[in-house]
Amino acid sequence: MGPGPSDVHPRILEALGRPTIGHLDPDFVAMMDEIKTLLKYAFQTDNELTLPVSAPGSAGMEACFVNLLEPGDKAVVCVNGVFGNRMVENVTRCGATAVRVDQEWGKPVDPDAVSAALEANPDAKVLAFVHAETSTGARSDAETLCNLAQRHGCLSIVDTVTSLGGIPLYVDRWKADAVYSGTQKCLSCTPGLSPVTFSDAAVAAIKARKHPVQSWFLDMNLILGYWGEGAKRAYHHTAPINALYALHESLVMLQEEGLENAWQRHATMHRALAAGLQSMGIEFVVAEAARLPQLNSVYIPEGIDDAQVRQYLLSKHNLEIGAGLGDFAGKVWRIGLMGYSARRENIELLIRALSDAMREQGRSVDTDAALSAVSAALAP
Ligand SMILES: *Cc1c(COP(=O)(O)O)cnc(C)c1O
Repeated sequence: MGPGPSDVHPRILEALGRPTIGHLDPDFVAMMDEIKTLLKYAFQTDNELTLPVSAPGSAGMEACFVNLLEPGDKAVVCVNGVFGNRMVENVTRCGATAVRVDQEWGKPVDPDAVSAALEANPDAKVLAFVHAETSTGARSDAETLCNLAQRHGCLSIVDTVTSLGGIPLYVDRWKADAVYSGTQKCLSCTPGLSPVTFSDAAVAAIKARKHPVQSWFLDMNLILGYWGEGAKRAYHHTAPINALYALHESLVMLQEEGLENAWQRHATMHRALAAGLQSMGIEFVVAEAARLPQLNSVYIPEGIDDAQVRQYLLSKHNLEIGAGLGDFAGKVWRIGLMGYSARRENIELLIRALSDAMREQGRSVDTDAALSAVSAALAP
């Protein structure tokens, strides 16, 4: 129950162990086409250029930046946590200029501040932001930010690593341009792949580049020779065959559950967890309206030793929760309810285990009252 990787469903683990076939085997190519179709559903897009990059979420991030930005370009980057900072680093390494819009950690990106930055930088080519900041648990208003980008003639780059499959995400309806995600958060798959999708406008910008993409491996023009439509598929790199079996299985499971049902399950489980934690006197970092159901940042109660609790949970209850990052180190726990981890039994385990860990440190906790609050929140 940390900030990812989430629990991997047994069906997905089973898929990983299937016999490895060739990366151009007709059966494998047919599965690649299914993965693209299933990813379009997960992203809610008709974008032709939708595929999994053969590397973790950070590679999807890099793929978006290196394909859209050229030396001398300018990008407005929203920073309200760790991953916004990484975006700035990506922009700079493309030889482009980053205009930062900083926001206090734990708050969503402020659309007014973004609007002012776009007004002040009419030459910006890209607006980049993180939809679901895993370092803080804040959800930003992706629809409004994508609209701002459109109005100012910018392409949007959107980090949906933690949002895909966990909260509403509509790539086409929101007109997002370059969107990347990961497999190990709300898709509950193993880490190591990064689904990406590019709009027609993003593809046009890639085609109109004056310089070749600086990264050979992440150049979408070359990747399309392997992942693109048509019979003439050619070797680009050896696809991570078994990891793709697993991704396929996780996407089939998402389709079986239904995207809206998956979003609903995360929201319901979050409400139950919040009821239990609040009954124990534990407070949330993020204001209710901007809280991510799949990543619950809570303040560590006064006088409780952070590392000791996390160590106790792991050794005594086989349960992992996340530590605070950056400014939040030692002050905040990050409790994940991602994908297959977002289940009632996990919430009850967390409440029992955390009560136990706090009692270890001399705190009196009413576990039964907390479990009743969880039940009440889940009552129909
Ligand atoms: C986890 C995460 C990433 C990075 O993904 P990796 O698979 O660890 O490379 C990027 N952005 C956000 C918001 C994340 O939560």
